[in-house]
Amino acid sequence: MKTTILGYPRIGNQRELKKANEAYWTGKTNQKELLELGSRIRKENWQLQKNTGIDSMPSNDFSFYDQVLDTCLSVGCIPKRYDKLKHKNQLDLYFAMARGIQNKEIDCTAMEMTKWFDTNYHYIVPEFEKEQTFEFFSTKIIDEYKEALELGIKTKPVLIGPVTFLLLGKEKEEGFHRLSLLEKLLPVYFEIITQLTQLNVEYIQFDEPCLALNLNEQARDAIKFTYEEISTKFPNLKVFLANYFDCYGDNLDTVLKLPIDTLHLDLVRCQLQLNDIFESKHYNTNTKLSLGLVDGRNIWKNNFDNSLQTIESVISKIGEENIWIASSCSLLHCPYDLDLETNENDLTTEIKQWLAFAKQKLQEIRTLKGLASSNYNEFEKEFKDNKMAHVNRKASTLIHNEKVKNRVLALNDTDSQRKSTFKNRQAKQKSALNLPLFPTTTIGSFPQTKEVRSWRSKFKKGILSQAEYDSLIARETKDSIHFQEETGIDVLVHGEFERNDMVEYFGEKLNGFVFSSSGWVQSYGSRCVKPPILFGDVSREHPMTVKWSAYAQSLTDLPVKGMLTGPVTILQWSFVRNDQPRQVTCNQIALAIRDEVVDLEHNGIKIIQIDEPAIREGLPLRKEAWKAYLDWAVKAFRISASGVKDETQIHTHMCYSEFNDIINNIAAMDADVITIETSRSEMELLDAFVDFKYPNEIGPGVYDIHSPRIPSVKEIEHLLIKAKNVLPKEHIWVNPDCGLKTRGWPETTAALKNLVKAAKQLREKE
Ligand code: GLN
Ligand code: ZN
Repeated sequence: MKTTILGYPRIGNQRELKKANEAYWTGKTNQKELLELGSRIRKENWQLQKNTGIDSMPSNDFSFYDQVLDTCLSVGCIPKRYDKLKHKNQLDLYFAMARGIQNKEIDCTAMEMTKWFDTNYHYIVPEFEKEQTFEFFSTKIIDEYKEALELGIKTKPVLIGPVTFLLLGKEKEEGFHRLSLLEKLLPVYFEIITQLTQLNVEYIQFDEPCLALNLNEQARDAIKFTYEEISTKFPNLKVFLANYFDCYGDNLDTVLKLPIDTLHLDLVRCQLQLNDIFESKHYNTNTKLSLGLVDGRNIWKNNFDNSLQTIESVISKIGEENIWIASSCSLLHCPYDLDLETNENDLTTEIKQWLAFAKQKLQEIRTLKGLASSNYNEFEKEFKDNKMAHVNRKASTLIHNEKVKNRVLALNDTDSQRKSTFKNRQAKQKSALNLPLFPTTTIGSFPQTKEVRSWRSKFKKGILSQAEYDSLIARETKDSIHFQEETGIDVLVHGEFERNDMVEYFGEKLNGFVFSSSGWVQSYGSRCVKPPILFGDVSREHPMTVKWSAYAQSLTDLPVKGMLTGPVTILQWSFVRNDQPRQVTCNQIALAIRDEVVDLEHNGIKIIQIDEPAIREGLPLRKEAWKAYLDWAVKAFRISASGVKDETQIHTHMCYSEFNDIINNIAAMDADVITIETSRSEMELLDAFVDFKYPNEIGPGVYDIHSPRIPSVKEIEHLLIKAKNVLPKEHIWVNPDCGLKTRGWPETTAALKNLVKAAKQLREKE
């Protein structure tokens, strides 16, 4: 039996890589220092794994920015616009592709970025053209393999498999499919493999997570062709084929027939696939199985008892020597080290004993091997402790709140139903709110200036008292209300100055959440996030937003929107408990938000926005599972929104989404108004709503808030006319794409003035 992981976090224990990258980008340090830091992180990671007793350690899992971008460089898939940089410094070319570049000689946009399967990690999207060629360009894979060899470690290099690499990319012109490039791409992979075999590599890990998706015949043939070719050309190479985030599903027969050494299984996401494998007539018991038992996507301790049962049942079928104990996927998606959490106020000892971060997961893998092989006695203490932690978690009063559980059990159909139909509500809201045609509004946040952030940090450090902090936030809120009134906006917002982050703010106020102090996870490039840990039954003790919303409303006669984060988004952006179905947890959050909505209404708030930007990213990887997810996700939103009277207008907001394939579910959310991001796509994203004849009101974004550019009145009017041509005019709202917290005041002021002017001009033409 052997132990392995599929990859390790690389941002550094203290986010050293983030800081070093940013220092390099701003010219504060030189390249040598950055390269040295990379080397140090790799060394530390290997040393740690070695000391823990991981038998087969990955290499090439390190990256300065992103592993898909690394692969682009490895196979020379470099868009032509970077040609000028190609034969200069490779790392600078790499960062230019990741981040774009603008100087006297060259001005190029960055490559596109998108989410890595159903994670919050973003990868750089490879670009392909019809006459695409490939070449062995960056030697990173070989260099890092050699680097480990020099430390006396023979690693298992990780390569993104050629089929997944192609499928993750995009055709930049018409007239071909990217999979047709496989025959040109494979020779470069062969060159890489040749060089690795010359260095006596034993295993190569090929990551083909596309196998967790619904693939067509052509993609399956590509998988078959690729691994048969590799096996013919490199008969002595041992291929470790990895898929994760879901089972192999209907791709299982294809992979079981492949001439590979080891097949990796994500048993956290899909335990049942083991049965399918043993029942399949295509399974050859010489193919080793890598049992991905330790969760790479979450922060809970492994349940040794359950894992051992699985391991033992597999041993009885294929023998110890054919088994790997592994992480379910790369540990990239976990924070580094629980031992860094020393602040009892954040993570108490009781909660800590339920958790395992990346470093602790290495130990878990080692312990499982020990327990499952003959060394049981040596690991008996770990086993007992693990059992105790689970017993304790199951019974903990911190987690379990009968009142909350019963309230979810008692939910019935009327709880997710507004009192009247949209048409009736619309009429009542019209007379209650008395808004003009094409009402203007914003999505919630106003610029979070350095100053505002410094108040929060001073308050947290105790330099500012609660009263001092509150009075500063109040001043900022008041200024923003006056600014909006002067600008002529119709539906105001309070500005969200009191919020650090749209999920963290609510997590801090709700029971059932805790926060780590160093639990950072890479989101993209140098950007890291620290997801809240949702560990227990969720309940709301006190109103969370009423104070600031009511204060803002007291300053003006115009309506001020209450601003909340929706249950699905709170769930999606947290580390969620694994001891009950996600949908139950989501309903608990929904009820807490519902109470807040009702309290806002009672405090004179007439319009309430419940943001759900993450609803689409929660979609399961396989289409078969979409319906079940969408049903409960939509229902949770409706539960949160349905406690109010007809006159109260519920808004929702979504961004970075394609809406086509889920438009009927979005309509089923039945928000009175939805605001969406559409300006960058020139309203293309609106098509889904138009084709579907979306019944409720809609605010297609007319101002791209991701850019400091100020849209002109003409541009905004042009977009609005586009919308007016396809939507009933009484349904159209005028707003930016998203919140303005990342913008500065000067461009915000100018852009919103133009936005109001465009709306007014349109009104006059009616
Ligand atoms: N109300 C939030 C804001 O304006 C919405 C953010 C989002 O959609 N990501 O900041
Ligand atoms: Zn948004």
